[in-house]
Amino acid sequence: MQGVHIVDHPLVQHKLTILRDQRTSTRTFRSLLREIGALLCYEVTRDLPLEDIEIDTPVARMKSPAIAGKKLVFAPIMRAGLGLLEGMLELAPSARVAHIGLYRDPKTLKAVEYYFKAPSDVRERLVIVIDPMLATGHTAVAAIDRLKENGVSRIRFVCVLAAPEGVDVLRGHHPDVEIWAAAIDQRLDAHAYILPGLGDAGDRIYGTK
Ligand code: URA
Repeated sequence: MQGVHIVDHPLVQHKLTILRDQRTSTRTFRSLLREIGALLCYEVTRDLPLEDIEIDTPVARMKSPAIAGKKLVFAPIMRAGLGLLEGMLELAPSARVAHIGLYRDPKTLKAVEYYFKAPSDVRERLVIVIDPMLATGHTAVAAIDRLKENGVSRIRFVCVLAAPEGVDVLRGHHPDVEIWAAAIDQRLDAHAYILPGLGDAGDRIYGTK
């Protein structure tokens, strides 16, 4: 699939299998999601531009690469996106965070916004939207619409699992936004859950069911 990067690293795939397992406890689910967040962060930032800066080692002066320019904003879609955020911030601790509060109306399955707070210089940065599940794609599209209304032009999307339907909707609305996922599953069920999926990510992170 064009514009979709599958992170097939054995560590990610192994952790994903445990995440999917219904016997996995809330505590283990949360810590695995944090670890997967760090590994996905590693992949989504793989091509960030570098520039040489001058430093002194204890032995000599040298030019050494550092990430160039204004850096990252992570934009978790609440609440499940917060579960991936922690691991990403462990790898990129200076990144800024834009919180996007969206929920899925259970009847229409459309995204409804209840919170949006982004750094004032968000438009100058690469924004990585994060949500463990790309299901219908409606919340992802709504989050990206909102970021673009705020002048953001460089956006990537990171999830753990995607449904083919969600990939088509997101890429259809925002062909400039590439997707990083650990796996693309079979399809959505009648309630817009990903099959075979892992259940409700928010409930499994926070133990709310
Ligand atoms: N959101 C979830 O948490 N799980 C799904 O399967 C789909 C959307």
